[in-house]
Amino acid sequence: MDIIETDYLVVGAGSSGCVVANRLSEDGRTNVVLLEAGPPDNYLWIHIPIGYAKTMFNPVYNWMFETDPEPEMKGRKVYWPRGKTLGGSSSINGLVYVRGQPQDYDDWQAQGCPGWSWSDVLPYFMKFENNSRGASETHGGSGPVHCSDIANKHELMEAIISGANSLGVPRNVDFNNGQQEGVGYYQLFTKRGWRSSTAVAYLKPARSRTNLQVLTHAMATRVLFEGKKAVGVEFEQKGVRRQVRVRKEVILSAGAIQSPQLLECSGVGQADRLQALGIPVVHHLPGVGENLQDHLQFRLLFRCKNPSQPMTISAARCAP
Ligand SMILES: Cc1cc2nc3c(=O)[nH]c(=O)nc-3n(C[C@H](O)[C@H](O)[C@H](O)COP(=O)(O)OP(=O)(O)OC[C@H]3O[C@@H](n4cnc5c(N)ncnc54)[C@H](O)[C@@H]3O)c2cc1C
Repeated sequence: MDIIETDYLVVGAGSSGCVVANRLSEDGRTNVVLLEAGPPDNYLWIHIPIGYAKTMFNPVYNWMFETDPEPEMKGRKVYWPRGKTLGGSSSINGLVYVRGQPQDYDDWQAQGCPGWSWSDVLPYFMKFENNSRGASETHGGSGPVHCSDIANKHELMEAIISGANSLGVPRNVDFNNGQQEGVGYYQLFTKRGWRSSTAVAYLKPARSRTNLQVLTHAMATRVLFEGKKAVGVEFEQKGVRRQVRVRKEVILSAGAIQSPQLLECSGVGQADRLQALGIPVVHHLPGVGENLQDHLQFRLLFRCKNPSQPMTISAARCAP
């Protein structure tokens, strides 16, 4: 079998995998292999924000998962899109830049997750960010990921915002400033109208490095262990089974669904369940594959008697 040797192997070239591969290979000496199950991101609609509609149900670039029937949803299966290309879900997502509420990060730290408090993560948000509003105390102005204000605003949206204001909901001009409460426009991960995925922001600038090897159409099927130490991965590329062996570390960044799945397929998870499926147990780790939570999204649609055109609002009017 064909075996590739490297220092670090990164499985999954999604939002996180592209960042990790870039950083690990930055010194020009450390050898890094990045495996991506999907194809390259050279489909034009990935890069145009409105192309969201073209990738949302496209099995080439989207895993198109669905849940089992949900008892709490009258047995409905819920559609669960996930990106399957360089950039992963950052190549097909809604581009909305929302960091979250600081107290949530502080709660995670308080519950035993050191390094995840708001003050710990804020410098990283600022480091990755190139905000069209420029640098400030809470925003970065020179990072690789671009974020911009929405240029075209619709008078109906302005009416909704004013309506909310008249009911006492404050206008919020920056949802990423430590206070999410309020109503307003969010910022988007775009640069002059083009999607700023992590493949564009982090991987593209690193592709010319000779110490970084990116393999697409390469699906990791099993983590290889020596005892309890991960020493590589078996993968399939265009029908051929191959291996990557590491001198240092295997990093799983295949997303919230597929990283635990790959661990379970490799014998790391709930021992009883793995044994029932005929998977030899490497390590009994009952938390793997459990407690997944996601936000359920539903949309409200209204018929409008008075359709109107988008209007352009100057950047000055949106600025904080
Ligand atoms: C439709 C949609 C809309 C969203 N909208 C927003 C939004 O507006 N704002 C926001 O902040 N977030 C949004 N999100 C969420 C956000 O995009 C994700 O949380 C984020 O991209 C997850 O990053 P990740 O690195 O964990 O996984 P991903 O980016 O999903 O990357 C995982 C990668 O691993 C690859 N992979 C999986 N299994 C294997 C394997 N066995 N071998 C090799 N490769 C593998 C996948 O193909 C994929 O490329 C959205 C997500 C989706 C799907």
